[in-house]
Formats: sequence, C-alpha cells, structure tokens
Amino acid sequence: MRKPIIAGNWKMNKTAEEARQFIDAVKNEIPGNDKVDAVIGAPALFLESMVMNTEGTELKVAAQNCHFEDEGAFTGEISPKALGNLGVNYVIVGHSERREFFHETDEDINKKAHAIFRNNMVPILCCGETLEQREAGETAEWIKGQITNGLKDFTEGQVSELVIAYEPIWAIGTGKSSSAEEANETCGIVRETVRELFGGAAATAVRIQYGGSVKPGNIQEYLAQEHIDGALVGGASLEAESFLQLLEAVKE
Ligand code: PGA
Repeated sequence: MRKPIIAGNWKMNKTAEEARQFIDAVKNEIPGNDKVDAVIGAPALFLESMVMNTEGTELKVAAQNCHFEDEGAFTGEISPKALGNLGVNYVIVGHSERREFFHETDEDINKKAHAIFRNNMVPILCCGETLEQREAGETAEWIKGQITNGLKDFTEGQVSELVIAYEPIWAIGTGKSSSAEEANETCGIVRETVRELFGGAAATAVRIQYGGSVKPGNIQEYLAQEHIDGALVGGASLEAESFLQLLEAVKE
C-alpha cells in the first residue's frame, strides 16, 4: 500500500513573513505521517527558516529547484549539497515551468535528480504533455520519453523511493483539471514505463502524484484512482486552510 503524498508548490509566491505565518498555522495540524506525507515546496530564500520552524513536526520541506553540480562557479544557482545540509527533504525537479521558461532538458533534469539523491533528498520528478500533444494523440509516447530520460541510470531502489508528478501542462494554473479517469490512465502509463525499465517491485512502490488545478473540492476523485498516490498542488496550497483541507481529504 503506497502512502499518499500531498505536496504544495508555492512557486514564486510569499514573503518570508507570509511563509512563517503559514507554517505556524499548519505545522501542528498535520495528520500523522502514517496516513500521509505532507510537503511544502517553498522558494529557496525561506528554506532554512522553514526547516527550523517545522522541526519535530510532520510537515516536510521541499526546494523547487537545484543545480546538478554540488558546488562551483554557477552564479545565482542553488547547491543541492547546501540544500541537503540544511535538512531539506525533497526537491521538485523538471516542473513544466522550469522546462518552458528556463529551457531545462530531460538530460539536465536527470542530472539534477541524481544530485538530489546524492545529497540525501528525494526528487519529485515532474512530467506532462501540452494540449497540442494531447490532441495529437502523442501523450503516451511523450510521457514515456520523459520518464525514460529522467530516470536514466537510477537503481531499482532509488526509483522505488522517488516521487513522480504527472502534470498535464494545460491543467496547471488554468482551473481546467484533467478528469480523474484521464489522469489515472496517464499515471498508469508512467507506472508501466517504470515497470518496463526497473521491474515490478519499483513499479509497485513508486508514488505518482497528479497535479494541475487540484483543490479541496476535487482531490478525492484523484486519490480514489488506482495509479494516483497524491497531488502536487500550486494555487490551492497557498492558503493554510486550503492546504489543511487537502490533507484532511486523504484521511476520509
Ligand atoms: P496548480 O499548479 O495547482 O495551480 O494548477 C500545479 C503545479 O504547477 O504544480
């Protein structure tokens, strides 16, 4: 039985003070982590204070990006070694906004995912197709390619541990969520690809999130699906009350 994982992705939102207020409001309300893994992906600026402020609670902290080298002459970049050293638990990697606006390739994303594991954190590896690709019937092939390239040179054990987020690009921030059945079908393709590459044990263990306009009112439809083990949530993770409602939905 895979434990659900609900991860907020704040993107480039909130000030340090707003982040602190959010954490104070939610940190002692998180359902026990035998039921759900609760994660907030915050801007790099607040990660240190978030890790300190969540110590001893059930809330885990994610970075939204990192470089693939541990350190060096990469002005403005985020060191995965420094993130691991801070006590960050997860790193979101390969989000479609990083792929689109910052031109990240599958190869970069694969190198970043290796760097994340190397520094004792868990990657949340994102994949997803555009509306044009969906309409042209190219979704399955595209997703298989992203997963195959993104997971290159990983071990079965690593793949069993990581999290994959399937986010159709046309459903992100648009209010247009994919139907639960459609999302489940594509998450099934992700799982099947993992099975082909790493075997049945990894395919059974790997957790796959759906992301794209998930909110308290629709999360249960997704969680009820065979291949969906949680959600990566942007807009609806920004308010403490709404984030807690997402977590509550897992318990019901
Ligand atoms: P959304 O964003 O929930 O606001 O659609 C999801 C994401 O980009 O991770």
